[in-house]
Amino acid sequence: MQVIEHPVETLRTALVSSRKDLIEQYKQYSKEERKLLEDGLQPGSALFNPVTVHSDSDWIPSHPEAPQDFQSFFSNPHRRSPSKGHKTIYMQTIGSFGEGEDITEQYVEWLRQYCQAFYHGLAVKLLPTVTVASTGCTFRVNNNTYNLQLHAGDLLNFLKKKKPKDAFCIVGITMIDLYPRDSWNFVFGQASLNEGMGVFSFARYDDNFYSRSYPGRLKSTKKLHPDDYTVFQNYYTPPITSTLLFRSCKTLTHEIGHIFGIKHCQWLQCVMQGSNHLEESDRRPPDLCPVCLRKLQTAVGFKISDRYEALLGWIEDGGRSSEGHSAKPTEAFLEYKQWLCKCISMLEA
Ligand SMILES: [Zn+2]
Ligand SMILES: [Zn+2]
Repeated sequence: MQVIEHPVETLRTALVSSRKDLIEQYKQYSKEERKLLEDGLQPGSALFNPVTVHSDSDWIPSHPEAPQDFQSFFSNPHRRSPSKGHKTIYMQTIGSFGEGEDITEQYVEWLRQYCQAFYHGLAVKLLPTVTVASTGCTFRVNNNTYNLQLHAGDLLNFLKKKKPKDAFCIVGITMIDLYPRDSWNFVFGQASLNEGMGVFSFARYDDNFYSRSYPGRLKSTKKLHPDDYTVFQNYYTPPITSTLLFRSCKTLTHEIGHIFGIKHCQWLQCVMQGSNHLEESDRRPPDLCPVCLRKLQTAVGFKISDRYEALLGWIEDGGRSSEGHSAKPTEAFLEYKQWLCKCISMLEA
């Protein structure tokens, strides 16, 4: 394992920048906020850890690219920011999550509330769930894993037609696996950043996905008719677990982060780190490093402590089951909860 430890000064410039106006802008943060942001620059920080590379198949060795500091994010003329009249993130559920409509609705409502806390200050709204058939998208059976897959580009075309006028962006979410083109095995998601759209699948976050006994493998490999969507009726979807919820929340906020123009993070451990495989996505933390936090804060304008409080509130709101609803499985968020408490107490000091 390799630890990528950047010198303190490199991290400081990545966070604060070398442009005079951006240094002035940075000084608008309160003393406590700056203390939190700068805590991550110090080796041995209690809140932020250096990036670790575990193998050549990890993201950084396989995608060498220049890291994006705050200044290059801020100066990018093509970056999308929420603006007056375009402050809503829309989520479009495609197909079902868990068994039955009620569970789907509850699951995506948890995701919606999580995103609303993460992008504190923006509204996150659900569009009514649609069936796979109503998207009219092309589908296939994967040659290796024998599960059903939807054509990601077709889904983006569908979302484009659905995008409300006041949207900052629209994201499609599904439990069915995706593929971008015939020659590709699969894709976790696909986005059109210029148009503020993305579609993401959580199918491969099922612990069993790669096992031979995966219930989503089709028994028969007979040729499917392109217009016959009945194969999606009662098709397997992963059981709702705390780990699945944790992975889904991380993926969704990571992907929406890209729509804001935030690139893969190489500074510190961060939810915006790139990931090539499940083990690597599981390693990344659920929240932003100081550099990416400043990027998001500048784009959205929240008070840092309010955002942490909202995320903590979302976790604490779990565990309680109300009539007809099961409790939100937040066990996987325990470490995150403790981390949020530490951040909040530093901001109060
Ligand atoms: Zn990414
Ligand atoms: Zn980061």
